[in-house]
Amino acid sequence: MIIKHDPSTGKLIGEFPISTPEQVQAAVQRAREAFPAWRDAGIDSRLETLDALRGVIERNGQEYAQRISQDTGKPLGDSLLTELMTIPMFIDFYKKHAKKTLGRQKRENSLLFPGKAHYVEYFPMGVIGIISPWNFPFQLSVIPVISALIAGNTVVLKPSEVTPITGEVIRECFEAIGLPPGVFEVVQGDGSTGAALVDADIDKVFFTGSLETGKRVMAAAAKKPIPVELELGGKDAMIVCHDANLKRAAKAAVWGGFVNCGQMCVSVERLFVVDEVYDEFLALVKNEVDALRFGSPEEDADIGPLTSQAQREIVERHVQLAEKEGATILCGGQSVARDGNFFEPTLITNVRPHMTIYQEETFGPVLPVIRVNDEDEAIKLANDHIYGLTGSVWTQDIERGLSLASRMESGQCSVNDLVTSVGNPILPFGGVKSSGFGRYHGVEGLIAFSHQRAILVDRGWLKSEPFWFPYTGKYDTLNEVFRGLLRGNMIRAGKGLTKLIFRMNRPT
Ligand code: NAD
Repeated sequence: MIIKHDPSTGKLIGEFPISTPEQVQAAVQRAREAFPAWRDAGIDSRLETLDALRGVIERNGQEYAQRISQDTGKPLGDSLLTELMTIPMFIDFYKKHAKKTLGRQKRENSLLFPGKAHYVEYFPMGVIGIISPWNFPFQLSVIPVISALIAGNTVVLKPSEVTPITGEVIRECFEAIGLPPGVFEVVQGDGSTGAALVDADIDKVFFTGSLETGKRVMAAAAKKPIPVELELGGKDAMIVCHDANLKRAAKAAVWGGFVNCGQMCVSVERLFVVDEVYDEFLALVKNEVDALRFGSPEEDADIGPLTSQAQREIVERHVQLAEKEGATILCGGQSVARDGNFFEPTLITNVRPHMTIYQEETFGPVLPVIRVNDEDEAIKLANDHIYGLTGSVWTQDIERGLSLASRMESGQCSVNDLVTSVGNPILPFGGVKSSGFGRYHGVEGLIAFSHQRAILVDRGWLKSEPFWFPYTGKYDTLNEVFRGLLRGNMIRAGKGLTKLIFRMNRPT
């Protein structure tokens, strides 16, 4: 059984059965049986079916937001904005782009392949297993689910055991649009259920979660083998240049570091500030942190509790270690003496690269600040890390911003903004290095759940092709084509090719 406690009160609020491996396999089997009809229904029909989710969210959004907030502890506004709103945003985007993205596209021909036409198109993979985490339990499940479904796959979702209430919200949401049986299945459970899903008869696994679990998922998928997409952790850098709009950057740093109580893969976890503006900027940041209000979803606060006690313990450990290792706790630093998993918004300075708080993902309401000499040092430090998910650069010189962004080893980088790039359906999202690989969101989110098929067409008018048998007596002309190509002399290569075509198609 999954035992669920309210993060804001610590009270027991539910028990949820853990699906057995047999139940997981049965769900995958139903998804497999549903696949051909769903694939053949066509994109328009699938989009129309999924578009009905908007109505479901409109009718039940307030109730869903309350349940997601109770499950996670996040403010109600966050449940609306960062969880439920993703549905209309992504559906609208895919209604505009899906057909063109997945439809047949003609590729340019080359002189070497006269008379041929070349196309690329996409087709669904089959049954997709999606395994999701607890920090944005609705959107991190639903965005890959709708992307995979629109692309013509059927899906089995394994939500996080930390947020089973949201797993039920998702199940109800999709049930309400009357999908054909088996097109979308939810299997609640823990790591063992996730492992059973990877072992079951699926065609791709899309995993969002920690680096360590990601490695296990990839190892299990390698045995089959099936394609894997890993969306893993981050230790994102924010770089504040000497010419930044400091007031804006300070507000952004505090939102980017503390929203969702810092439990965000794209949280600001390393704030680099150049020496020239360090003191002024730090004072602005501290004012913003001091003004934050924490509380339960009913208390209309800025940040809630941590979603689980286990996560609060990780945060406590990181902060204690930081102090031991020589950092300064400028404010916060303690668990709050009340029920639930509350931890004070914490600002830490004098942070250096050898410290645990710098190396490991903290995933809590903690903002570590690092003083650097200049932007070059900031970029060097930002990149010298195992993670590379997103990042941001703050400067009023847009050219400088773009140039620094292009030096950042991360899957996304923003200039004078942060986090927004993740919620924006236009942009592909995913990491580099230990933050994972593969991209979703954007048109890439449909391609991620599709196989690519290349098609070559010849009208079939010629009797034989220049390179077909017989080879006898053709070597010199082939050599002419070869040499022409090597020297970039397409006229010579083309002449050789024409000779071969005539030779192979002489009237008999
Ligand atoms: P986690 O790795 O503990 O669990 C993620 C999911 O994997 C859960 O559903 C869990 O039940 C399942 N799981 C556990 N063991 C498994 C196994 N052996 N095989 C298959 N599935 C298994 O991660 P978490 O604590 O839920 O999430 C937090 C982590 O996720 C952080 O590292 C965070 O940065 C990362 N994350 C990444 C992104 C991203 O998009 N890159 C987004 C959100 C969170």
